[in-house]
Amino acid sequence: LYNQVQDLKGTIRVYCRVRPNFSGQSNSLSCVDHIDDTTITVIAPTKNGKEGRKSFTFNKIFGPSATQAEVFSDTQPLIRSVLDGFNVCIFAYGQTGSGKTHTMSGPKELTEEGLGVNYRALGDLFELSKQRKETISYEISVQMLEIYNEQVKDLLAADGTLLCSLTPHTLDIRNSSQNGINVPDAQLVPVLATSDVISLMNLGQKNRTVFSTAMNDRSSRSHSCLTVHVQGKDVTSGNIIHGSMHLVDLAGSERVDKSEVTGDRLKEAQHINKSLAALGDVIASLASKSSHVPYRNSKLTQLLQDSLGGQAKTLMFVHIAPEYEAHGETLSTLKFAERVATV
Ligand code: ADP
Ligand code: MG
Repeated sequence: LYNQVQDLKGTIRVYCRVRPNFSGQSNSLSCVDHIDDTTITVIAPTKNGKEGRKSFTFNKIFGPSATQAEVFSDTQPLIRSVLDGFNVCIFAYGQTGSGKTHTMSGPKELTEEGLGVNYRALGDLFELSKQRKETISYEISVQMLEIYNEQVKDLLAADGTLLCSLTPHTLDIRNSSQNGINVPDAQLVPVLATSDVISLMNLGQKNRTVFSTAMNDRSSRSHSCLTVHVQGKDVTSGNIIHGSMHLVDLAGSERVDKSEVTGDRLKEAQHINKSLAALGDVIASLASKSSHVPYRNSKLTQLLQDSLGGQAKTLMFVHIAPEYEAHGETLSTLKFAERVATV
């Protein structure tokens, strides 16, 4: 296990998940031609306009029948490393409707089997910290933030304040030598069990909906970030270690036709493009071991700076909608993923 954790250090892993086809058509009307354990082949037009095929290789491919438990299983070594004092980032990337929220949180009607990465990761943290309690005493707390139009909002701000004002406060990201990158004005809530996390995530979800009513559903056009802070105190030496985990449900990556949107929609689209591009640039420059990493180009990369690169571990779940009509977005999603992958 130690070696496994060492291997993951500083690495970027990319997993691709293909959700079931909802078109109701047979497989021949899918933009995904073939998948195996590590390679996906999709329809891609050739230069002369004919229908061609293009293959992409990632650390792992999860097909439409993969369960939530299977998708999470490879993530467990990362969770363990958070308790050892590492920083971890887990992202869900893909166009709206491709399954990002399904992977991170689960389906709307949550069942035990449906629980997404967020709940399972926290569940593992609680379980492992309990197993270690004779030697290390852990405190686990969570924050839940939203980044919308390059503004950081607190999704755990007390109900009342939010319901009174539909424009929640914009928060600053600070960098202090003591705490590293942090958002001091966001609620940081101690949690003891998965049930605490479920009620906090429900609150966050509710607040997200409150933010949304003013401007339709904005959840697909904002990034949401569940941050878990872990502090462990060695029972004998008193030494303290800190680890963190960011679980990020990214805004939809679909390209917006500039000729078709104006005003607020155009502004949103530009902010999303900018921040996803900044994330791609940061991960790609880490993957190529470049000396300059452009963290400052977006709020998202500023917020995650401590947890991207260095000793930190990154996992990106890239989501694919398999319907034939989605082939343009599918191809651009896979190209983004290819750029940040280091296989
Ligand atoms: P996104 O967050 O990327 O916009 P969602 O996670 O909301 O997409 O997924 C869109 C719809 O597809 C939801 O109804 C979701 O429950 C369903 N879905 C997504 N992925 C899967 C999957 N792997 N298996 C079954 N249903 C899925
Ligand atoms: Mg979603």
